[in-house]
Amino acid sequence: MAVWNLGSVNIDHVYQVPHLPAPGETLAALSYSTGLGGKGANQSVAAARAGAVVHHIGAVGPDADRVLARLRAFGVGTDAIRITDTPTGHAIITVDAQAENAIILFPGANLLPDRDQVEGALADARVGDFLLLQNETSAQAEAARIGRERGLRVVYSAAPFDVDAVREVLPFTNLLVMNEGEAAQLQAALGQVPPVERIVTRGAKGAEWHSPSGEVLSVPAFRVRPVDTTGAGDCFIGNLVAALDAGLSRPEAMRRASAAAAIQVTRAGAGEAMPDAADVTAFLQ
Ligand code: ATP
Repeated sequence: MAVWNLGSVNIDHVYQVPHLPAPGETLAALSYSTGLGGKGANQSVAAARAGAVVHHIGAVGPDADRVLARLRAFGVGTDAIRITDTPTGHAIITVDAQAENAIILFPGANLLPDRDQVEGALADARVGDFLLLQNETSAQAEAARIGRERGLRVVYSAAPFDVDAVREVLPFTNLLVMNEGEAAQLQAALGQVPPVERIVTRGAKGAEWHSPSGEVLSVPAFRVRPVDTTGAGDCFIGNLVAALDAGLSRPEAMRRASAAAAIQVTRAGAGEAMPDAADVTAFLQ
């Protein structure tokens, strides 16, 4: 089977600075690095590293050669990523000596995917494939509807939190994944627990799979010494979907996703820190 992911692709620009810039200040950075980012790309990389066949659906600008090459190097299919005249989405990330950060996010081409693009990309999808969605692109609701019509299993990572997007996508969602904060915000906004299969991730406290019938499957987090937890949720989701796509049971898939995320938080970086299937298998032995 395969995983189709309508998701953001960003270029991250990371600057180490002595302090976060004040209004009107010009500040020299101490160092600079650039790389692949975006929740969508991170989830695609996580799922591909876990062994899934992944087709990323999205849009980038003419400046995206390096990030597309990086996605391919991780094994992510890029044929359904449209190259446009709008700049690639990017994040300007400043990090001070105390690891405090300030980020400017420019969505750029991530807001260009539309119904036609998604429909064209999913023409090759098969019943039972997974369709993964987050809130960093346009056209999630259209994609969710098309996905359900075609018999795909729609997994929605409702982050960053956006109540209007959730309201639109929820009716077509098979599995909703949120962290604790997003789950609380959603319940407050809807006035009820959403009546779908859902996973709530709770950082070092683990994760829970809730069924609408009230059944709860809890998986503790593995005890590790975290170095950088950025992208832990993306790692968890990518690995979970890859495991379900490979036919693993819910408890097995949750266990592998927890192990993968535990490895990922012990490494610096987000997308670049995703473990592969062999890392996860070795960790679980
Ligand atoms: P982020 O926004 O940092 O990408 P998130 O808030 O979406 O993450 P979390 O709930 O923090 O997601 O983490 C997802 C999963 O990663 C957890 O359910 C757990 O399995 C694993 N995880 C996160 N933090 C830790 C940790 N400190 N130790 C072990 N596992 C962790």
